[in-house]
Amino acid sequence: MRGGKVAVVGGSIAGCAAALAAYRGGADEITVYERAAGRLADRGVGLAVHNSRYAELDSAGYLDADMPWVQLERRRWYVRDGSAAGPLGHEIGSMPFPFRTYNWGPLWRELRGHVPDCVTFRPGVAVDTVRADPEEAGAEVVTADGSERVDLVIGADGYRSVVREAVFASVRPAYAGYLAWRGAFPADRLPEPELWAPQDCAYVVFPGGHVIVYRIPDGVGGHRVNWVLYTAPPPDLDLGLGVDLRLTAPTSLPPGGLTRALTAHLTYVCDALLPPYWGDLVRATAPEELFLQPMYDYTAPRYTSGRVLLMGDAATVARPHTGAGAVKALQDATVLESAFATATTWPDALDTYDTDRTIAGAAMVDLGRRLGHALVEETPPWRSMDQTALETWWKQADGSGAFGGRELRR
Ligand SMILES: Cc1cc2nc3c(=O)[nH]c(=O)nc-3n(C[C@H](O)[C@H](O)[C@H](O)COP(=O)(O)OP(=O)(O)OC[C@H]3O[C@@H](n4cnc5c(N)ncnc54)[C@H](O)[C@@H]3O)c2cc1C
Repeated sequence: MRGGKVAVVGGSIAGCAAALAAYRGGADEITVYERAAGRLADRGVGLAVHNSRYAELDSAGYLDADMPWVQLERRRWYVRDGSAAGPLGHEIGSMPFPFRTYNWGPLWRELRGHVPDCVTFRPGVAVDTVRADPEEAGAEVVTADGSERVDLVIGADGYRSVVREAVFASVRPAYAGYLAWRGAFPADRLPEPELWAPQDCAYVVFPGGHVIVYRIPDGVGGHRVNWVLYTAPPPDLDLGLGVDLRLTAPTSLPPGGLTRALTAHLTYVCDALLPPYWGDLVRATAPEELFLQPMYDYTAPRYTSGRVLLMGDAATVARPHTGAGAVKALQDATVLESAFATATTWPDALDTYDTDRTIAGAAMVDLGRRLGHALVEETPPWRSMDQTALETWWKQADGSGAFGGRELRR
């Protein structure tokens, strides 16, 4: 299948990969609409990609060795223990952890660099809505400047997608009931770095949550320390968000935007629930390096509707415990490229994509819920666990063994 006009809404990881898939699949004209005006490369937080998923995405041409990474090898589980456990806390056990970590900004910059010049990238242009064609022969993208009629609209516009809203209006992200505090800072600020090996990922657990800590590249030859702390705030705590969490789902807060109550709760977790080393590490984060992401998940009923296609977080958001959100988005793109290459008509290509990705997306959302339950909502008695108990518990939580992403079948 060759030719056609494609509009991509969103120019983040899924959007850049979608443009690349459409180009390699033979589309004639591709436009990417990105609401943000040029700030994407500044995002300095981490994400992790399983080595096996990396190998598949490398061979498919969506990731490569030019994108700076840090290789992790082991995941060590620590818990606070008042006894003589040392500053890192008591090590419950450890597991192999073959993941590469990335810094979002440099990863995006490289991916954006792979998008050929013939693709029109329109930063600073928000799409207001998408009008699906009742005959299913095309669709229209509407911006403040006017509208464009295309053969296919790809919604890569994240979890509050206007493209999804246009075709599946009733599907809304559901708040999972807990929050992720996130931070990243230069590694030279790390207290006693020799206590924590560069190839180790720490899972520091406590009743009702955990913090994950690993190093990421800083994009200029050094490292940053990246952490994500998941827990539910006490239900009676006024977080200063102006909403009652029991009634209204919260939104993300940008770096420097945490309320006093949210900062105070983080301080409480550092002081009372984390071993001293990890509490100090989180406290070393400056307010402008600290932000908040409430946990959501959902599954769109399908990945396509007529000539509208969803990709990445616009289609499904799996809770980040899966360690595979970016992988899922990049896999979406590789499957779309193959579908374009093998199909002879638009409906055939879209059906092939839809069948594969609807199943894959739902499986990752399920896994995210299971892991969220085990790691945050109903945590086990960490202090009484040993290596064997930890392995048995993890096996149950992971279930299908899809942590880090499902294998890509092309
Ligand atoms: C706490 C946390 C930790 C994570 N850790 C990992 C990890 O370790 N490994 C991993 O693989 N993944 C991880 N993820 C998930 C991963 O970051 C995302 O799944 C992935 O980046 C895919 O994003 P996306 O491109 O679909 O959406 P987004 O990155 O949300 O991009 C959507 C883009 O669309 C633009 N946009 C939105 N609306 C419009 C509009 N109307 N018009 C034009 N543009 C618009 C936005 O500006 C944005 O640039 C994590 C996520 C979280 C929250």
